[in-house]
Amino acid sequence: MEIKNIEKEYNSKVVINDMNLSFPHNGLVFIVGESGSGKSTLLNIMGLLEPNFNGGLHYANIELDRSKKQSNKFLKRYFNFIFQDYNLINSLSVKENIVISVAIAGQNFDELQYQNIIQLLQIDELVEREVTHLSGGEKQRVAIARALLRNNPVILADEPTGNVDQQNSKIIFELLKKISEDHLVIVVSHNERAAYEYGDRIIRISDGNIIEDTDKGYLNNKNLNDKLKREDNEKK
Ligand code: ATP
Ligand code: MG
Repeated sequence: MEIKNIEKEYNSKVVINDMNLSFPHNGLVFIVGESGSGKSTLLNIMGLLEPNFNGGLHYANIELDRSKKQSNKFLKRYFNFIFQDYNLINSLSVKENIVISVAIAGQNFDELQYQNIIQLLQIDELVEREVTHLSGGEKQRVAIARALLRNNPVILADEPTGNVDQQNSKIIFELLKKISEDHLVIVVSHNERAAYEYGDRIIRISDGNIIEDTDKGYLNNKNLNDKLKREDNEKK
């Protein structure tokens, strides 16, 4: 997946400034940066949720022609989303939400994989419950299960651990890490420690510009450990 010369303005204020990025078919990429820096906007452009922007998007080596038909095709076949606000259907049960999402993607429901994922996310006891009655963190884990059961090549997640405790954050990041062995997983997160612990690549945005693009393959562990120690000390 590739983005070329992407620009976005809101009310004549530039929020994404001439961005170019290229992603391989797998790996866990973190997008970090301050609130308002443009992370969600970038993710929404890459995932075809925001149609108004300048520049080009390339998926599977095809330049998107931006017609509605082609966008819809890519939306269904290419991406799974984990949204900040879940986008679950409140009146349906947990399992129904997951089953419907797989059906919309035109895919077969894999019961074995389903069992596996609901256990890993510790929502196996909630599957018959209506989504309305779940806590924020439970809803977030359902949204993640739903995204992971659609077998599309790219997973885009906006703050997937924004509403869950540390223990569940760990479960979610470890799961995303595992999935990223054969999927491209792009995560927007405020959790810098997780970015450096789990990410293969960290892209930092400030005011609509990329100010850091670190491939962890080039970072030696000493630098990383020093950075994490510094952060710990700053928190104390
Ligand atoms: P956060 O970490 O708080 O989620 P973010 O990095 O995801 O922040 P964006 O949501 O991408 O930030 O917003 C980038 C900038 O664009 C902000 O200044 C925001 O106010 C502005 N913006 C976002 N959406 C709109 C919109 N629909 N209309 C006008 N301005 C917008
Ligand atoms: Mg955001």
